[in-house]
Amino acid sequence: MKIAALVADRLAEPMHSPDCQHEDGAHPGLKGQALRRALAAAQSRCQATQERLTEPRRRVLELLLEADQPLKAYDLIATFGENGAPAKPPTVYRALDFLERQGFAHRIESLNAFVPCRIEAENHTAAFLICSCCGAAEEFEPDLSPGLAAAQAKGYEVASVTLEARGLCPACRAG
Ligand SMILES: [Zn+2]
Ligand SMILES: [Zn+2]
Ligand SMILES: [Zn+2]
Repeated sequence: MKIAALVADRLAEPMHSPDCQHEDGAHPGLKGQALRRALAAAQSRCQATQERLTEPRRRVLELLLEADQPLKAYDLIATFGENGAPAKPPTVYRALDFLERQGFAHRIESLNAFVPCRIEAENHTAAFLICSCCGAAEEFEPDLSPGLAAAQAKGYEVASVTLEARGLCPACRAG
């Protein structure tokens, strides 16, 4: 009973601001055929690179693709099993590690949550627009060249860049 309340609480956040009229569902995850197509594409990308999309890896990717918003590792652990049976945490962490390495998923650092990659380009820098009202996160491709040139001019060799912008999505702005 207590646990159910906690879960409901957690899934309810983030809340829209009181005067936001935005209906949820403006950023739906994949379902049905679109979901099957995305999973099949991941499968063939793995085959092409001699990687294995094992059942736990496929399942975690499926959960990320279906979701309407970024998921935390504990959400994935809790909903992993077909009948709501939780996964062993290392199973999910290892699968996330694989999906990130292969570019199928990204971690949004400021949320410590995961999203499927929507850009499908190899080795790109993932950047996110995060709605602080509904919690949606949209991936975009940033033009980092001016920043990288500035870093190089200062003698830095940049290993990674995190770009996460917060604000309101179009649906919440309209609401
Ligand atoms: Zn991406
Ligand atoms: Zn929003
Ligand atoms: Zn909103």
